[in-house]
Amino acid sequence: MSEADCIFCKIAKGEIPAKKIWEDDDCLAFLDINPQAPQHIILIPRRHIETIAQTQEGDQALLGSLLLAAKSIARDEKLERPGYRLVINCGPGGGQTVYHIHVHILGGRPMKWPPG
Ligand code: 5GP
Ligand code: ZN
Repeated sequence: MSEADCIFCKIAKGEIPAKKIWEDDDCLAFLDINPQAPQHIILIPRRHIETIAQTQEGDQALLGSLLLAAKSIARDEKLERPGYRLVINCGPGGGQTVYHIHVHILGGRPMKWPPG
């Protein structure tokens, strides 16, 4: 999927509305349109990268920023206790449907293991 057709790039540019939770220069978090838990937040880098499989060593800082942002958002959204789940789906077998790398932040209910 090209950047021009990407839903999450359009959200990042403000071309599609979304309920934004948090943003900085590199990343943006917004509510999932089809929540799978009482709290379901999507966290993306502004830069279009299709999957985690396509990241490289040069993306180390960006990937670190994403995880640190996920932790801070979870804390700010009062998910730290009792806990929450971070998910990155990769490719069709991993359940990825939007090909712009993103972290799901899920909370507000007990999570099961293994995931489906
Ligand atoms: P994936 O299946 O790729 O890991 O996750 C994509 C997520 O994006 C899904 O949970 C889906 O509900 C969410 N999503 C898809 N389109 C939109 C949209 O237009 N707006 C928002 N806020 N979320 C979306
Ligand atoms: Zn994109």
